[in-house]
Amino acid sequence: QELINKLEETIENFPDFPIPGIQFKDISPIFLNPKLYEEVIADLTAFSKGKVDAVCGIESRGYLFGIAIAVALEVPFILIRKKGKLPPPIISEKYDLEYGSAEIETREGHIKKGQRILIHDDLLATGGTTEAAAKLVEKQGATVSQFSFLIGLKDLKGEEKLKKFGADVYSILEY
Ligand code: IMP
Repeated sequence: QELINKLEETIENFPDFPIPGIQFKDISPIFLNPKLYEEVIADLTAFSKGKVDAVCGIESRGYLFGIAIAVALEVPFILIRKKGKLPPPIISEKYDLEYGSAEIETREGHIKKGQRILIHDDLLATGGTTEAAAKLVEKQGATVSQFSFLIGLKDLKGEEKLKKFGADVYSILEY
């Protein structure tokens, strides 16, 4: 609860950014406070301790916490990147956005068959990005055991989209 309060005071809200109707949450002030950052990592690490064999972070804010979680857990960290940034061979997954579509990719062979995977990102909104990441993991014969986020936006029902993977879902903060 104390961590939740501190984060609520730290994360800044911007109504109608970057477009009208979006309530943007800026997590960057967390990095001005290394103690708070450590507490966030400790909390997310406690959620995953002993339960995963590797961590997948989603570009780019999923990297800010994902790598530290993986190092604390002493497991590999795998980058899930936006299209066109990784050299071949790669595995990719397309998904729909409100307008058009997007694609995410990982290097082939970084995720190993049978691994229990944590997928981490800073924020869960509609769940579209995270769902695509989970499909990418399953394509490689691994299992998504957990999803973690700093923030979950409940109204957008992202968690419902993730139910089919049968994994535990954790957000430190929910709005
Ligand atoms: P989704 O695919 O709709 O769940 O969107 C989640 C992705 O959008 C994550 O990678 C977030 O980093 C990003 N995102 C969406 N809304 C916000 C926000 O208000 N603040 C920061 N990132 C956001």
